[in-house]
Amino acid sequence: MMLDKYSREINYLRVSITDRCNLRCIYCRPKEGVALHGHEDILRYEEMIRVISLAVKMGLIKVRLTGGEPLVRRGFVDFVADLNKIEGLKDISLTTNGILLEQFAQGIFDAGIRRINVSLDSLNPDKYGQITRGGRLEDVLRGIARAEEIGFSPIKINTVAIKGFNDDEALDFARLAQEQPFQVRFIELMPVGKTTLDYGEDYMPGSQLIKIIRQRYALEPLKNKKNRSDGPAKIFKIKGGRGEIGFINPVSDHFCSTCNRMRLTSDGKLRACLLNEAEVDLKKALRENCSDAELEKLIWDAVLLKPRQHDIVCTENSLRKCSRNMSEIGG
Ligand code: SAM
Repeated sequence: MMLDKYSREINYLRVSITDRCNLRCIYCRPKEGVALHGHEDILRYEEMIRVISLAVKMGLIKVRLTGGEPLVRRGFVDFVADLNKIEGLKDISLTTNGILLEQFAQGIFDAGIRRINVSLDSLNPDKYGQITRGGRLEDVLRGIARAEEIGFSPIKINTVAIKGFNDDEALDFARLAQEQPFQVRFIELMPVGKTTLDYGEDYMPGSQLIKIIRQRYALEPLKNKKNRSDGPAKIFKIKGGRGEIGFINPVSDHFCSTCNRMRLTSDGKLRACLLNEAEVDLKKALRENCSDAELEKLIWDAVLLKPRQHDIVCTENSLRKCSRNMSEIGG
C-alpha cells in the first residue's frame, strides 16, 4: 500500500498518453497552439506498462488514460489490451473528447475499458465549434450514442463551467441528465497552463450552477459509496430522471484531504498533484535502464512529495496558477 505523508492511500494514476489533441479548447491551449514534445520525449507504451506494472505491485489499483487526446495516439487499443493483462490492476478508464469515439468505441471496449468520461462543454453546435476551435458537436454525440449502444457504463459527461459562455446552458445539461442515463458533471475552471482565458473573469463556482439548476429541478444528493466511482464529485439524482448530475469544485471546495491520485505526464514525469509543480523524472531513469528497485524508489519520492493541499487561488483580485499545460498533465 502507498501511503503519503498525510496518510492518504495513493492507489489511482492518471496517465497522459500524448500531449497531442485533435481539438484546441480555449481553456486548455492558447490560439497559437503550444509547443509539442517530440516523439522521443513522449513515454513509449512499453515504458508506461513498466511503470504501471511496478506501481500495481506497490498498491495502485486504478488507471485513467487521458491526454491530449488518447484516441489520436497510434496503437492505443493494443496498449489498452496490454494494460488489461496486468494482474492486480482492477480498473482502466478513459477520458476523451469523443470526436473519434464512434470509430474506436468497440475496439476499446473489447480491449477492456468499461468506464468513459466524455468532455462536452456546449450542447450548441456553434458554441461547441467556438470553444473547441473547430470541433463538430455531432461527432461527439454520435460517439456517445455508440458507446451507450455497446454497453459502456457509466458514461460521464464532463463540462467545464465558463462564466458568460456556457453557464446559460446549465439547464440544458441538466435536461440531458434527466433524459439520458448519463452522469453529467460540471467542473470548475482551473488556472492551468497557457490559455486564452482570463481565469478571474471566466471562473464560475459550482455553487452558482447548483442554484440555477435547483430553480428548475429537484436534486436528491447521492452518497458516494465505496463501490461507486464518483471520486471527488458531489452527485445528485434528478428526481424522476434517468441520469445524475455532479459538481467537481477543485477551486471553491477542494477535496485534497481525500485525494488518492498521482499523474504521469506525457513526457514521463510523475506528478504528485495536478495543481502543484512538484514532479519526479521517471523517463530519464527508464532510459538509463534503471532497475525496478530504483524505479520503485522514484515512485516513492513522488508519493512523498504530495502536498497536503494545492495552493492555487482564483478570484477576481488574485490568481496563483500552475505553469504546465493541461494537455501534458492530462487533467
Ligand atoms: N482530450 C481529452 C478530453 O478532452 O477529455 C482528455 C484530456 S483533457 C486535458 C481532460 C479534461 O481536462 C477535460 O475534461 C477538460 O475539459 C479538462 N480541462 C482542461 N483544461 C481545464 C481547465 N483549465 N480547467 C478545468 N478543466 C480543464
